[in-house]
Amino acid sequence: MSDLPETPQQVVVLGGGLAAARAVEELRERGYDGVLTLVGAEPHLPYERPPLSKGLLLGSDDVDSVFVHEPDWYDDKDVDLRLGAPARRIDRGRRVVVVGDDEIPYDRLLVATGAQPRRLPALDGSGIPVAYLRTLDDALALKEALGGDIAVVGAGWIGLEVAAAARTAGASVTVVESAPLPLQAVLGPELAPVFADLHRSHGVDLRLGTSVDQMADGTLSLSDGTRLRPDLVVVGIGAAPDDHLAAESGLDTDNGILVDARLRTTDPAVWAAGDVANHDHPALGRLRVEHWDNAIKQGRHAAGGMLGDDAPYEAMPYFFTDQYDLGMEYVGHVGRAGHDEVVVRGDLGKAVFTAFWLKDDRVVAGMQANDWDASDHLRRLVGGPVPDGLRDPARDLGDL
Ligand code: FAD
Repeated sequence: MSDLPETPQQVVVLGGGLAAARAVEELRERGYDGVLTLVGAEPHLPYERPPLSKGLLLGSDDVDSVFVHEPDWYDDKDVDLRLGAPARRIDRGRRVVVVGDDEIPYDRLLVATGAQPRRLPALDGSGIPVAYLRTLDDALALKEALGGDIAVVGAGWIGLEVAAAARTAGASVTVVESAPLPLQAVLGPELAPVFADLHRSHGVDLRLGTSVDQMADGTLSLSDGTRLRPDLVVVGIGAAPDDHLAAESGLDTDNGILVDARLRTTDPAVWAAGDVANHDHPALGRLRVEHWDNAIKQGRHAAGGMLGDDAPYEAMPYFFTDQYDLGMEYVGHVGRAGHDEVVVRGDLGKAVFTAFWLKDDRVVAGMQANDWDASDHLRRLVGGPVPDGLRDPARDLGDL
């Protein structure tokens, strides 16, 4: 449509998660004073998900601490909150988002509908209680159920964090993972053993290279011949982008909503950000990132784009995890081309170290475990050439 006003007057942010909340914040911080509507399917105000598998499960964070803003903040910023019901449709021809019987008009739309956990349908009707962890309500229910014998299917970030919380709560925990190592796809054979050792040392029964063959009559039959009768199965086998509404509206999707380097869809009135966005990263190529930092930064960046900014989104992926007494951060991305070398500085055995993934004389990713002084250096070095002295543990990272 050619009647797109140059200055936005009616912005709709679809999805009540972190990317959405930060986009709304950015819009108001930058002086946008038009109509601003936030549509969220969940009944809650936007909240942070990382505590759901950590502090909230462990009981060290309370529910009130997870929200991005207090309720008053949205009133003060004149944000029209439409929570508790999913949008049913995006009508791009008429530029309206349909929620229940209401049609909410927009001249700029941000789609930040996030992702949904991949499911194991075979568990339905197996007689085994099953939990997935994505929402605040999931986390509160899971917290109450974290005793007895817990089986976790999938040794990814969420599966392992749940395993750590369950062990800390005194549960007996078996983790079943079909890959030979936990987190193998991200950390590779060099670093993934750190997490295998960590969990085994805390008493987790870690079944690697093992799959669930059958689930029936309250029993999980594993490919190694074991039969488990857990009180609860927690499934952590990844997430899929919640892009169906965008696809139904005719936007291009392929493992998420396809956006260009500036987070724009092919419709000049529509942006996407966060877990749902499959972004054309200027340095890394097509990438869909499911991390907290990405949701914050892309939400803000898309808001800037709606206000006329033209810069590409270039931030390096960043994520963190906390499991037992191990805190770690990871910056960068090892692409399909892989890496030539991993440089480890510090002590893998004591889980206090930094690691750098190198490819073609460049630092493509870096990680620190329990070495928080290294955080800024990771961010500085990743994406650049391999500095002299990186392989020499006697050289301080700050001097490279
Ligand atoms: P979401 O947070 O998923 O929000 C999207 C929202 O859109 C949802 O509330 C959804 O209900 C809503 N929605 C969907 N469809 C509609 C519709 N039709 N109408 C209205 N609303 C709709 N990342 C890290 O880097 N470190 C961590 O330690 C970490 N821990 C995590 C722990 C858990 C348990 C989970 C689930 C995620 C964790 N993450 C972590 C990932 C991080 O939380 C996500 O990347 C981030 O929440 C993505 O934000 P988002 O706004 O894109 O999507």
